[in-house]
Amino acid sequence: MLDLSRRDFVVSTGLAAALGLNARLVVSPAFAQKTPDPARGFVTYKIGAAEVTALYDGIWEKPHDPAFIANASVEDVKAAMVKAGLPADFVSIPFTVVVVRNGGKTILCDSGTGGQVQPTAGKMMANMKAAGIDPAKIDTILISHCHPDHIFGLMEKDSNKPVFPDAEIIISDVEYKFWTDPAVIDRLPEARKGLARRIQAVFPTWKNIRQVEGEADVAPGIRFVSAPGHTPGHRAFHLSSGLSQLMISNDTAYVPALVVANPGWRGQYDQDGATAEASRRKLLDRVIADKIMICGYHFPFPGGGTIAKDGTGYALTVMKT
Ligand SMILES: [Zn+2]
Repeated sequence: MLDLSRRDFVVSTGLAAALGLNARLVVSPAFAQKTPDPARGFVTYKIGAAEVTALYDGIWEKPHDPAFIANASVEDVKAAMVKAGLPADFVSIPFTVVVVRNGGKTILCDSGTGGQVQPTAGKMMANMKAAGIDPAKIDTILISHCHPDHIFGLMEKDSNKPVFPDAEIIISDVEYKFWTDPAVIDRLPEARKGLARRIQAVFPTWKNIRQVEGEADVAPGIRFVSAPGHTPGHRAFHLSSGLSQLMISNDTAYVPALVVANPGWRGQYDQDGATAEASRRKLLDRVIADKIMICGYHFPFPGGGTIAKDGTGYALTVMKT
């Protein structure tokens, strides 16, 4: 759901070089991370016979901005963060990538930031290795949508070389066609033009991307679920094994403290706010009706939980680990 907010990317490369440090680790004190990383950056749980591993990629402690939620004030946003047990002085936006091992396949759900979105994120690969998952053995990568925090982990910084050349990358045909249409660049807001240019320079040259229509079966026990609005072809992923199910909701309800509690709030990163809200309500209602687990890319780590109705909105109960 992120822009490449260059103003957040305050890296003192000169200082880093002088100290012999990795430049990415030296950030302006204004953006130094306040939230401690989880004690262990991976958590594994079972959904039936499927093994789900949540990999922590990092966090964006987003400065408050009155434009972030169009129909709520910064004071409303702060109150919602506190109600969810989170700090009020910024919006907590963690990044969590899920790996599913099922039916003999290893499936990566989105790809992390690749260390190219926020200086406080880019830890997915280290946590994947710590979890005993070999990146070279990923069979399939499911892409929910083409925002930077979900796809930049597919491509190396600067060179755009594929990080997972042997995996099959599966994406909704609607999403792929939207971002690779040369005419889209003129229609996009300034902050998104560079993203579209990068996608157009890279994706059409890769032979391992497969576009699928609608709510296709995409991996053992996993189907795409249409959840447009955040982007035109945004998809959730439904995992089913035996009697157990998990809705991998991706950015349908991106920051639950805000838009699960207040599903009518219109976030800046929802490209079509009304459609995003309808998709959000439909998905959350389905998770409640079917009594299944949900996880989300920006939910508090490790990202799993359950949803219940709560007044005019919904409430997320985060899983215990
Ligand atoms: Zn996102």
